[in-house]
Amino acid sequence: MEDPGTLLSRNTAWQVALKKKICALIVSITAVSVCRAAPVVVDCCAGVEAVAGSPAQEKAAHEFCKLACLKISSFEHLFGLQRGRTITIHVCSDMRDFYKRCKRPWFVGAALVDDEIVTQPVRSLRKIENHEALVTHELVHWIVRRAAGRGCPRWLDEGLAQWLAGQKSGLSAAHACSLPRNGEDLRRLDGKLGARDLGRKDLKRAYLTSLLLVDRLISAVGFIKLVAALPQLKTVSDPWQVRIVGKSLGKLIFEGI
Ligand SMILES: [Zn+2]
Repeated sequence: MEDPGTLLSRNTAWQVALKKKICALIVSITAVSVCRAAPVVVDCCAGVEAVAGSPAQEKAAHEFCKLACLKISSFEHLFGLQRGRTITIHVCSDMRDFYKRCKRPWFVGAALVDDEIVTQPVRSLRKIENHEALVTHELVHWIVRRAAGRGCPRWLDEGLAQWLAGQKSGLSAAHACSLPRNGEDLRRLDGKLGARDLGRKDLKRAYLTSLLLVDRLISAVGFIKLVAALPQLKTVSDPWQVRIVGKSLGKLIFEGI
């Protein structure tokens, strides 16, 4: 007599094989992937969750989780933040999933969407990014948002993320960028950083300009004083009213550095 368990597993195996065939057929006919494997939640640490969009992304989700866990406490401490919030890292199953979740072009490896770091699938990331810098960069955006609210100018946010992620190798190239000379130039820079349709070259240039500005600001006032001033951005109506070492941010940017 056949064991019901065996019968069940045979049935399951048969059903799975049939499902795979039907999925492959649907995908080949419609080019729509409706049959993706379910996301996998990865064991992480306090304050960080990681999700692999498919089993193939599980190893990357573990790696990104470890990287974020190593940094999160020191960043929260550095920016004077209370613990208790959780960031989720979502490694997308494929590029279609990535575009859907964060609407960024292929040359952007990851993005912060609310409390979630969305990354490209690991196969795509191997070509374009250093994983540690990628995770740290997005983690800094999350930390800066918590410290400064949504009023933080993009150039300051992007500059800090690159500076803390050790992406300073572009600094020598950044010197070739013309620095903003007034508030209008800075607003234009922020517009470029937030644009979804900017080309790779122009976006890279905007990033380098942000890095150079922040690097100069840090040289002038020190990293600790700059970070300590960030919470002012939650209350001031104009970022230029933020004061660091007795000077307004506007004065420091256009006169002091
Ligand atoms: Zn960024």
